[in-house]
Amino acid sequence: MPLDIVRSVCPHDCPSACALEVERIDGRIGRVRGAASQAYTRGVVCAKVARYAERQHHPARLSRPLRRVGEKGIGEAAFEPISWDAALDEVAEQLTRVAQRHGSETVWPYYYAGTMGLVQRDGMNRLRHAMRYSREHLSICSMLSDAGWFAGVGAKRGVDGREIAKSDLIVVWGGNPASTQVNVMTHIAIARKERGAKLVVVDPYRTATAEQADIHLAPLPGTDGALACAVMHVLFEEGYADRDYMARHTDDPKALEAHLEARDPAWAARITGLSEDEILGFARLYGRTKRSYIRLGYGFSRSRNGAAQLFAVSCLPAVTGAWAYEGGGALYSNLGLVPLDLALIEGLDMLDPTTRILDQSRIGPVLTGDRRDIGDGPPVTALFIQNTNPLVVAPESGLVHRGFARADLFVCVHEQFMTETAAMADIVLPATTFLEHDDLYPAGAHSYLQIGRAVLPPHGECRSNHEVIRGLAERLGAQHPGFAMDAVELIDQTLQISGFPGVENFPEEGWIDCCPSFENSHFLDGFAHADGKFHFRADWRAIGQEHSQLPAFPDHVAVIDDGDPDRPFRLVAAPSRSFLNTSFNNTPSSIAREGRPTALVHPLALAELGLGDGARVRIGNQRGSVVVHARAFDGLQKRVVIVEGLWPNHAFEEGIGINLLTSADPGLPRGGAVFHDTSVWLSPCEGQA
Ligand code: SF4
Repeated sequence: MPLDIVRSVCPHDCPSACALEVERIDGRIGRVRGAASQAYTRGVVCAKVARYAERQHHPARLSRPLRRVGEKGIGEAAFEPISWDAALDEVAEQLTRVAQRHGSETVWPYYYAGTMGLVQRDGMNRLRHAMRYSREHLSICSMLSDAGWFAGVGAKRGVDGREIAKSDLIVVWGGNPASTQVNVMTHIAIARKERGAKLVVVDPYRTATAEQADIHLAPLPGTDGALACAVMHVLFEEGYADRDYMARHTDDPKALEAHLEARDPAWAARITGLSEDEILGFARLYGRTKRSYIRLGYGFSRSRNGAAQLFAVSCLPAVTGAWAYEGGGALYSNLGLVPLDLALIEGLDMLDPTTRILDQSRIGPVLTGDRRDIGDGPPVTALFIQNTNPLVVAPESGLVHRGFARADLFVCVHEQFMTETAAMADIVLPATTFLEHDDLYPAGAHSYLQIGRAVLPPHGECRSNHEVIRGLAERLGAQHPGFAMDAVELIDQTLQISGFPGVENFPEEGWIDCCPSFENSHFLDGFAHADGKFHFRADWRAIGQEHSQLPAFPDHVAVIDDGDPDRPFRLVAAPSRSFLNTSFNNTPSSIAREGRPTALVHPLALAELGLGDGARVRIGNQRGSVVVHARAFDGLQKRVVIVEGLWPNHAFEEGIGINLLTSADPGLPRGGAVFHDTSVWLSPCEGQA
């Protein structure tokens, strides 16, 4: 069979949702490239997806349903193959059994963003709502950042990512796109080449993106709000604030200016660990560059004060009026741009608002019966999991392990690989990849709505998430029109009820550009609050229940885990270039590039510990400790330690990974995982590896 090129869409948990061109030959794929004709992807994809054949045809792909007959946690050796009918019958029987004993809320369908396709990701909610199972507070990634952005702007959208190419100054704040979202760098490169644009990166360590920057600011984790306040102080004091713009488009600039009076660079320098000159230099550069584009990442929101931090940064373009210029403004995410009606996919018409909501980031406390989470309700005694690997990705993983080890917990995991979570399951079902199923994809970084069709037959006996949900719904007696449709019909109906052309009439290239007008995307026709203004005065009460510690105006909110003499270091568990959460952490080229679990430690800190480059070091806190190898690295403050991941648990000497140390405390004001807000101690590691 000759090689052909087929279109697809990258489904992974990344804002770019790249349009793909996939080499296909004899039922296998070859190289994967970015679609050259799509103006955001522009022919570029990250290296891990370019080598997707490694993952797609990995010898460890699950291919048959499995029932566990051995101990939890061992892996495939503890399982025996069973038929699909037997597997689905058993899952349905177990869910029915526990629901009869404890009530339906004892079942917790649990998912996240292993795929970003709407049908295969969110369809679990249709089953959840039809059966009145416990709901899931989707807090683990974007809850804090969403809250911060909503406080000021009022809607989850911003200036199209392609406009970066028209900017004179790009500020990448709290993200590392060179490693995690390569397309941003494409557009930055155009701006630098064609306009001589400057790149500023704000990140607690010298990332691959910071390596390429004209200026890198490395504040202590959790102090970005202070930096943003001091920048605004300078903007007001030195005449860079656009008072005319603010009078027309913001709520209370006078009160903001008064509030910022005491938050000068000296104040911020004490909090952030930056020098006053660094803060002043950046503020002046930002102030005199009208076409300045802030690309906000998720990193600096993964902190107890993350929403307040993101809010503070989002205020900058409203002070200078950069929103009014082409190439100016900011983008956090455009996922709210496309108004899709998700009732059919998610079964929203069946949602019973009295069913309880459990926080996905607190799966450890939930499964170990923490009354702050389950209240007077029943314990969770059954989990049905798709698209996530909480044994590794969820915080406070010591508790997560204890929870999954419970003898009275039934677990079904539908997965592509025998992950750590699947290894704890009673039933494991083999899942298709995006190349083997159909889906619909919006994006965070751009404005395209895309359809990705199956281009390969399923591997082995793999079934899509949607097919499995349908199979369970039938056995459980769940009723909803969405269960009667295949994935293409669901996509088609969802598009049509949302006012888009259906599948038949969808453009042949596979995408529709939903980019709004300049006035709309720059909010010149009004921000998304009822008064049409950008809000410097945040209404946190309207956003979340835990608002009492959040001040109305942008500020440094000192609720972080800032350590003490016993835990003097600040740990940031940052994403690596070659893994994406735990996707790709089992492909040979990704493992080869990343090497081994490693802590980046300042050379002075290493010397004080009596350690050299490459030494084993134990990192710990009140939740436990892990052993990694240290790398001497001077691109961070001495108090900061970086461990990139996410590595599998077995890659660590003691079989449990970095999230043993991170906290399941909810960020303010409505939850959110605080992965980069962890104080730790470091000590020389005794014994041999
Ligand atoms: S950059 Fe992101 S969206 Fe694009 S191919 Fe890589 S993981 Fe997928």
